[in-house]
Amino acid sequence: MQNTNVAYDSKVEGEIIVTQADAVINWIRKHSVWPMPMGLACCAIELMAAGASRFDISRFGMEVMRFSPRQADCMIVSGTVTYKMAEVIRRIYEQMAEPKWVVAMGACASTGGMYRSYATLQGVDRIIPVDVYVSGCPPRPEALLDAMIKLQDKIGRERSVKNLTAQNTKPAKADNLALAGAGKDS
Ligand code: SF4
Repeated sequence: MQNTNVAYDSKVEGEIIVTQADAVINWIRKHSVWPMPMGLACCAIELMAAGASRFDISRFGMEVMRFSPRQADCMIVSGTVTYKMAEVIRRIYEQMAEPKWVVAMGACASTGGMYRSYATLQGVDRIIPVDVYVSGCPPRPEALLDAMIKLQDKIGRERSVKNLTAQNTKPAKADNLALAGAGKDS
């Protein structure tokens, strides 16, 4: 038996398709991701390239980049996260409506990269929950597109209906992170 979310037999059901609410909601969400381009350093140039004609992120339904947190649902953190910017990133993330996702693009956003310094946060996942990490310094635009496809797969597996009724759709991970303590290891 084929493993699919849609059960449809035109001879039996006519024009009616039977499926799961999760499958429909996730299908809509994963094909209409609106990224928030959080460009902080050199990686942001690769992010811009991903949106341009050669790589064309619109092939995946993600070309609607929004600089307002209330009109975006996927923050792409691309570049070095300094402590000066960390608080701003956290605030913008909190202003985004649920459901929302985060991609850490590049070595700096994922781990601090080469900047093991007093000024640099050692990974944006210390202040917000990250769904997909992209390696590289900088990653190629294709690597970002690959990460976005992985994010689509992840969205496709979410328990959306259950999360609609839950108070928080994200794990409590981010709530345990305090900006005040983020710099203690530098
Ligand atoms: S990972 Fe490399 S290219 Fe990206 S922001 Fe850091 S130093 Fe720049």
